[in-house]
Amino acid sequence: MTQASFLRTFVSSMYFIPISKLRIILIFSSCFISHFLFAQNRCLTHEVHQRKMAENALYTKTFTQENNRILSHDDLTAALVDTTITIPVVVHVLYNTTDQNISDEEIQSQIDVLNEDFAANNASSLDVPVDWIGLVKDSKIRFKLAQRDPIGNKSSGIVRVQTVVQEFQIFDPAIYSTSLGGSNAWPRASYLNIWVCLLEGNALGFANFPGSNVSQDGVVINYKAFGRNGTAVSPYNFGRTCTHEIGHWLILSHIWGDDNSDCTGRDFPITQQTIDDTPNQAGPTFRCQRFPELDDCSPTSPGIMYMNFMDYTDDKCMMFYTPGQIFRMRTTLNGIRDSLKISNGHVLPNFYNHDVAIDSVMNPVRIAVQRCLDPRVRIQNHGNDTIYEVSIIYNLKEGLKKSYKWSGTLIPGASTDVSLPNIGVNPGSQIMEFRIAETDDVGVNNYISSGFKVNNSSTSNCIGGNLIAYPNPVTSQQGICIKSQHPESQLSWVRVFNALGQLVSEKRMMINPGDGIPINLLHFTGGVYFLNVDGDIYSESIRFVYFPSDNSSAGPETCRRRRLGIE
Ligand SMILES: [Zn+2]
Repeated sequence: MTQASFLRTFVSSMYFIPISKLRIILIFSSCFISHFLFAQNRCLTHEVHQRKMAENALYTKTFTQENNRILSHDDLTAALVDTTITIPVVVHVLYNTTDQNISDEEIQSQIDVLNEDFAANNASSLDVPVDWIGLVKDSKIRFKLAQRDPIGNKSSGIVRVQTVVQEFQIFDPAIYSTSLGGSNAWPRASYLNIWVCLLEGNALGFANFPGSNVSQDGVVINYKAFGRNGTAVSPYNFGRTCTHEIGHWLILSHIWGDDNSDCTGRDFPITQQTIDDTPNQAGPTFRCQRFPELDDCSPTSPGIMYMNFMDYTDDKCMMFYTPGQIFRMRTTLNGIRDSLKISNGHVLPNFYNHDVAIDSVMNPVRIAVQRCLDPRVRIQNHGNDTIYEVSIIYNLKEGLKKSYKWSGTLIPGASTDVSLPNIGVNPGSQIMEFRIAETDDVGVNNYISSGFKVNNSSTSNCIGGNLIAYPNPVTSQQGICIKSQHPESQLSWVRVFNALGQLVSEKRMMINPGDGIPINLLHFTGGVYFLNVDGDIYSESIRFVYFPSDNSSAGPETCRRRRLGIE
């Protein structure tokens, strides 16, 4: 008996009942009516859909286009032999009280229900009446909690947000917004978003059809009707609210066609009669029924299909999707939701032991007004091992190169900002490159660059460098000494350029920290020169002046060890 016919019978019979029995009946009726009111809000997808159709022209256009596309397909066989599609799922738990912060086990129980229901291997499908047993098919649609987040980091597929919102409204954008007390959607192209929270009026849930705002795509389920253990409350504790809403999310209608209980509306429109395998039905069915259940639209056996997932029957009495419904869902997955088929959101990312990455440049970015920059980068440990040292090489595209060794403790997943020794830059457009010197297990995340502009009016006040040259100017000898203050040895090209930028001398040599190295100037004419030391770790130029006289000595053959920085 459907809800409407039960009420009609119940009210008409009241006139003939003695007062002594009325109290029992009133207690019964109050339980029934509270159940009825709760169940009236079993699903608000149709209400959400109607409002969007009235208010949002883009939604109307996108939904109608996709719906029409589905209607133009009727190759039922092709849809059913298709391959298995696994949909990555992210569950956003929005909790105001601790009991709303549902357990991982409860969430997994919901995923299990979805996979059983969509595979038609749920226990209740064994109770499908013999008339329809041939319609029980595996949809080959599966669900798995995400194992990586949208940027590729390992994830449980569960996002927990403690919120000040005590009860979310059905049309409340806060559900989908972290800044408003909800949780931002993960990209719908790669994930099915499920929000679990307390909904106003004890509504059990609703879905957002394709065409909805990208930030609101997915389904929303009351925490009292999610999963099959924990906070799920009878009779909505078999996880079927979520099964039902995902049916909507894949463009299924309610089985009675949302036509206000008359027989004109169908869940399959007239153009899809070839795949329409659900009986015409007047309105929703509540509680559990006994087969056959007849109504005005299907007055003879087998009657209405009240045990279909797209009806309102209690969870434990819902049993299956028909091949026609599976066809519509799979056609949606081959259409507007087809990117989900290639999503790797449910695949565990490869994790390496030693993998440190330069995640972002903090400075310089875009405009740097100081010609003496203090570069800063953020590094992150993407590997399994704790990192204690990272050498970062940074250079301007035009050549000046420096390096810095960071020391500290960076546990897996952690990140830190590293301030690098300052570096002088010329006015104009520049590019600075940063890379990690050590070889690790993943090379692609060891490099980053940043384009920026230096204001012409800024002045350079960088002091110090890796290199010193002495004596400078050179007047009494035919050679100059160079010395590196950099803490690391470097195999270097040592090049001397004249004032015109022409290369006049070139040598390859190892430069160790503190060693004085002689550079012969014997055949050089007097003038201004630039000496450049270039290697993998640092690159630096120094200007010197050479004015030999007739009595200048040769050499130097060796450079005396001097205190660094003192000529
Ligand atoms: Zn519904």
